[in-house]
Amino acid sequence: MLKDILEERRNSISQGGAGLDCEKASLAGAVSQRACVYCGARVVLNPITDAFHLVHGPIGCASYTWDIRGSLSAGSELFRQSFSTDLRERDIVFGGVDKLRAGLKEIAEIYKPPVIFIYATCVVGVIGDDVEAVAREIEKAYGLRVIVVQAPGFAGHKSLGYRLAGEALMKLLTPHKTDQKERAINILGDYNLAGEMWIIKNYFREIGLPVLASFTGDSSCADLIKAPRASLNVVQCAGSMTYLAQKMEEEFGIPWIKASFFGLEDTAKALRETLDILGTEAEIERAKALIARESEKAKAFIEPYLPALKGKKAAIFVGGGFKAISLIRQFISLGLTTVLVGAQTGQKEEYEVMAKIASPGTVILDDANPSELEAFMREKGADILVGGVKERPLAYKLGVAFCDHNHERQSPLAGFVGVTNFTKEINLTINSPVWSYVQAAATF
Ligand code: SF4
Repeated sequence: MLKDILEERRNSISQGGAGLDCEKASLAGAVSQRACVYCGARVVLNPITDAFHLVHGPIGCASYTWDIRGSLSAGSELFRQSFSTDLRERDIVFGGVDKLRAGLKEIAEIYKPPVIFIYATCVVGVIGDDVEAVAREIEKAYGLRVIVVQAPGFAGHKSLGYRLAGEALMKLLTPHKTDQKERAINILGDYNLAGEMWIIKNYFREIGLPVLASFTGDSSCADLIKAPRASLNVVQCAGSMTYLAQKMEEEFGIPWIKASFFGLEDTAKALRETLDILGTEAEIERAKALIARESEKAKAFIEPYLPALKGKKAAIFVGGGFKAISLIRQFISLGLTTVLVGAQTGQKEEYEVMAKIASPGTVILDDANPSELEAFMREKGADILVGGVKERPLAYKLGVAFCDHNHERQSPLAGFVGVTNFTKEINLTINSPVWSYVQAAATF
């Protein structure tokens, strides 16, 4: 199948070998599945529930809004609105700062949010509005934080957006830097999709280890600014939060660990490793009891599904490599074989782990496009694709089962309860009779 692959993409695809070409700009014309810089920044910052998110650009950019990342909130619902300066031709010719200033004044006077994030998108990157000057003017006039995220989509890809979001968060946190530390953690890189942050926080509540701030699922500005006091950062989505974790270590002296809460094995490991660093003896005992109780329940739940899942073939294409690794492990525990695995923004070491734990001959791809995914799914005879909104239509057109493991998921897939939800969902879709009808009707 390599004959159908663009020459310049060949080194980004391997079948079990090491040395995958990754962490690079997408190949022009290859139709990458990656989102733009602005989207990367927006998905990280948007779940801050009481912040105001203003898109300074044409209205189209504002389509990236709450529902592209279905984060839940226990408090303010302000973040579910989408606000834009809606730049038109006239603004592009004469500049958009008047519109931006008017919008910011309106927001400051009506909503009085603790912080406003301004996302300057592609057009603003071209016309060069002085967004920073307007932000400082509004901060001074109204006494609130206005943080500019210069995120023209063309400046790179989603990973740069993650970094810009990290920089924006550092601007919010740095004035609250302190040497007074608490024996408590921050959770980074969980966005409370379908309530997943609540599940993780409940585990730590039962264990007795305090969580100071969560980035950024179900967070408020008042909670986030407590973060510099924590003693450890636990990073769930490494792709989006590694930069922030590194900066917090440099600036606030907070060490960090990667911890995946997807799958039985990884959830137990994440809890154990966190407690090993910071837990008291009593907390470690409570963690052991929790892991034993929940693992037993989850295993008993999974057992009857195993015969129906045994031998099925899975394809995985998700945002970050760390999650892809957890998914390979989850499929192994369910008796499925992973035949294809890839990520939009995976790192070299993550691809090496994938090569080690996946079956020999598994296709591993960095920054794939739909054509490559289609070619290898057909070649390998995948029964299910696990991905996000951009992969869903591909699976449906091929008559292959699909599981949404991205921003739009409706049932929580993290923690021990996530294992049971994942098992139910995989079984429901992979064993549905509908795919045979789709395949029979297909004209390709
Ligand atoms: S690529 Fe540019 S125009 Fe398109 S959504 Fe991203 S920032 Fe907006």
